[in-house]
Amino acid sequence: MSVSPSSTAVLVVGGGIAGLEALMALHDLAGDRADLTLVAPDPDFTYKPLIVEEAFSLQPAERRELEPWAGEFGASFTQGAVAGVHPDDHAVELEDGTRMDYGVLVVCMGGRARPAYRSATTFRVTGEPLPIDALLERAAQDDSRTLAFVAPPGVSWPLPIYELALMARRRAEEGGHREIRLTVITPEAAPLVMFGRPASDAVAELLRVRGIDVHGDAYVSESDEGELFLGPGHHPLEAGAVVALPVIEGPALPGLPADEHGFIPIDEHARVPGADDVYAAGDGTTFPIKQGGLGTQQADAAAEHIAASLGAPIEAQPFHPVLRGQLITGAESLHLRHDLTGGHGEGSVSADYLWWPPHKVAGRYLAAWLAHEAPGADLEPHGRPLDVEIALPREWHERPMALDPYEPLEVDD
Ligand SMILES: Cc1cc2nc3c(=O)[nH]c(=O)nc-3n(C[C@H](O)[C@H](O)[C@H](O)COP(=O)(O)OP(=O)(O)OC[C@H]3O[C@@H](n4cnc5c(N)ncnc54)[C@H](O)[C@@H]3O)c2cc1C
Repeated sequence: MSVSPSSTAVLVVGGGIAGLEALMALHDLAGDRADLTLVAPDPDFTYKPLIVEEAFSLQPAERRELEPWAGEFGASFTQGAVAGVHPDDHAVELEDGTRMDYGVLVVCMGGRARPAYRSATTFRVTGEPLPIDALLERAAQDDSRTLAFVAPPGVSWPLPIYELALMARRRAEEGGHREIRLTVITPEAAPLVMFGRPASDAVAELLRVRGIDVHGDAYVSESDEGELFLGPGHHPLEAGAVVALPVIEGPALPGLPADEHGFIPIDEHARVPGADDVYAAGDGTTFPIKQGGLGTQQADAAAEHIAASLGAPIEAQPFHPVLRGQLITGAESLHLRHDLTGGHGEGSVSADYLWWPPHKVAGRYLAAWLAHEAPGADLEPHGRPLDVEIALPREWHERPMALDPYEPLEVDD
């Protein structure tokens, strides 16, 4: 039984995937019981999962203006960056010194991306798109004829590295560079193994057919001089160019608890322990997989709990992680689905739809809203969503919030 917050002012921090989902869920579930405000430093929402295509299509990823969007959901919008929280006073402080009071706070600030290597080209979600043609050219001129794609050890989201490699293969062929070797280096035991064995096998087969080598259970390290080595074994990494994903760190927001990398701990209702009426969701939390779909599920769990504490007649369900991914391949897309707390079964993979609307981030509210706004939104799904449960290690079922964010995830064969 939760205690009602002292005020109905609900402040959502962050205009990304988890923040938008939280706000839409609160609007739906709490209605007039909550006075909603969104605070974010950028005026726009950027649909990050599509940024991977920018280098190939030269089209910017989908963006939406936040202020009118917030208004649609009965919320006001403040443009600003939160610099710290004073949980005892129920207030946040913005970087410009402004103080904002809250009855309930939902922190969805995302993670902080840090380059993993100085001498690799880091795939960034802000700034200039990846210079893919120049990288392919450098690879073509090197004796190794190799362009390497590296997922670093530590917290990262590996899916884009496969998308980049697959789209680079297509680009290399279009540019007459059939001789270029493309190789993916990853600490995962097998490609995208977190989606379960059938999905991982399907991705591995797709990579094989497209002539992309995979070094699994491998990692890249860098010497002080900026030389890259492939481990285990510490061999020099032979490649004309190297593209690496960044490492993700937590927001380390002053006033809130954090682990040693700045991630905010949450419980199964997305509450932050030790800070009354504070919730967090998305990449900034300690949950080990940093993925938009999981962020929306945490945001939904928070919204349900908040709505119930404000008197809405609903029973708040705990966060139940289901991993859904859509792999952009440069041709057709592959849909991957895996229930992280299920119990039996093996996950699924399909070139057809496994969920609906078929958005890359399968948030309950976000995907519906994005689909509603998109052309072709009235199309019927081609395939029915499949519900599959998976055999996973016992601790995944019992205490998903206690998983170690720094341990590579593996599933049983
Ligand atoms: C290339 C790529 C491909 C991906 N593909 C997929 C995919 O296929 N499926 C999937 O589910 N996920 C995918 N992801 C992961 C997904 O994008 C993230 O997990 C998701 O964006 C996390 O949501 P979030 O709301 O926690 O953070 P974000 O979406 O990063 O949003 C954080 C928000 O907080 C704001 N903010 C930052 N600092 C402050 C501050 N001080 N005060 C106030 N606001 C602040 C930011 O401006 C932003 O609005 C992909 C990611 C990348 C980079």
